[in-house]
Amino acid sequence: MRRLIWFRSDLRVQDNSALNQAMGAGPSIALYLITPGQWQRHDDAPCKVDFWLRNLAQLSQALAALGVPLLIRRCDDWQAAPAVIAELCHAHEVCAVHVNEEYGVNESQRDRTVAAYLAQQAIDWYSHLDQIFFRPGSVLTRSGGYFQVYSQFRRVCYEHLHASLPAVQPTPRPQAPLPLPADPVPTAVEGFATPSDLLRSLWPAGEQVAQQRLARFADEQVAYYQDERDFPAKPGTSQLSPYLAAGVLSPRQCLHAALAANKGEFDSGNPGVVTWINELLWREFYKHILVGYPRVSMHRAFRLETEAVSWRQAPEELAAWQEGRTGLPIIDAAMRQLRETGWMHNRLRMIVAMFLTKNLLIDWRAGERFFMRQLIDGDLAANNGGWQWSASTGTDAAPYFRIFNPISQSQKFDPDGHFIRQWVPELAGLNKRDIHDPSALGGLFAPAGYPRPIVDMARSRQRALAAFKNLAGSEEALA
Ligand code: FAD
Repeated sequence: MRRLIWFRSDLRVQDNSALNQAMGAGPSIALYLITPGQWQRHDDAPCKVDFWLRNLAQLSQALAALGVPLLIRRCDDWQAAPAVIAELCHAHEVCAVHVNEEYGVNESQRDRTVAAYLAQQAIDWYSHLDQIFFRPGSVLTRSGGYFQVYSQFRRVCYEHLHASLPAVQPTPRPQAPLPLPADPVPTAVEGFATPSDLLRSLWPAGEQVAQQRLARFADEQVAYYQDERDFPAKPGTSQLSPYLAAGVLSPRQCLHAALAANKGEFDSGNPGVVTWINELLWREFYKHILVGYPRVSMHRAFRLETEAVSWRQAPEELAAWQEGRTGLPIIDAAMRQLRETGWMHNRLRMIVAMFLTKNLLIDWRAGERFFMRQLIDGDLAANNGGWQWSASTGTDAAPYFRIFNPISQSQKFDPDGHFIRQWVPELAGLNKRDIHDPSALGGLFAPAGYPRPIVDMARSRQRALAAFKNLAGSEEALA
């Protein structure tokens, strides 16, 4: 009898828990399900689907080298998954299915349904911890609840890491090849447009590339991470998020690369390394939040009292934000970076999200959805966490009265205007003082073709404060 590894967001052969366990137990085959309707419903971006397919082609080759054929099946959505997987198990004499856990509400429901269906047919189901360091439910408050405050969550994570570091697992040894050919991997899926060559070239596929990028970041950049990570014109962050989101890279591999650059320390030593590992723990935190507070994966605010905010219906302003023509250079540069590269720097994600939810007072859900439809690293937990942080509706969120001013953020984090000049060429001729706020130059001096700001900073700030101030309990909850 054979084992089946069902790949989802874990597109790699190195340090893959499900692959290791399955191949350790006996001859194995692999499966990937293409589910276009499900992906549409989850707002998965075309560039992300393309990235999955490109990585899948690499994965198929890496699995072939291990003697494991990768089979591809299609169904519109996950409702069909139990029957499709059961049929494949019967056709190929599979006695057990191995997966790595995923944590969204729909993903968890899907896995429970598939496991129950297979159990009726005496096929075993094994679900492994892989995507994060600690299983949700294993990092809890003294009273047994999920943490709502990141620093407290991190303290307990540190205790766990001191007790035992999650180990990188060895890649399995090749098995005797099975008389079963791998399926061809499609290069496109209908409903998801192929991205530009530029975008594709920025994010090459495959574990080897991901490992090289991680090694280079650990060797050359992580030590300066704390000082340089907030400046979008610098290559100050790892840009590994697409690889982590698709599981081309594991968080354990990242942790160990960082530890090796810091004499094995994670909470002391080089501040750059410590800060970077803390970001991996933010990633971890938001995944635990998804499980502990499932309402956040159902379009609900973490802080329920904020559901009473009177968000504005302002489709034209939303479109201006989406298209990078708000008249605020740093916002427009960031949104254009997102549309052209499928990625945006973290500091800019915070600035544009706060601008949308506070200055424009547009519902964070509109921003969350737009990001998801554009991002190559789109991840429900991190995206929802980031949006609810910026909108002050989330766990451990920015207090509602601490509203970033995009112009001063721009002056602080893009002081020479290099980033703006790269993405808003209409402003390339302005000096580093004027480029952050060309409207201040007055009509005659402002660059032609660049819009005036769509909103007044001071008045929109007051409007946001008023909208949040009157919420029941908001003073205590958000201050
Ligand atoms: P680095 O700074 O090198 O960090 C290393 C890794 O840690 C990242 O690759 C990522 O996996 C993780 N990480 C870093 N910061 C965060 C964070 N704040 N929350 C969770 N994980 C983090 N990240 C996503 O991976 N997918 C998303 O869909 C996403 N949406 C976001 C939306 C908003 C509004 C905000 C404010 C943040 C969002 N983030 C998201 C978090 C963060 O912006 C990105 O992870 C980061 O910019 C990726 O760049 P990097 O790989 O260079 O990160």
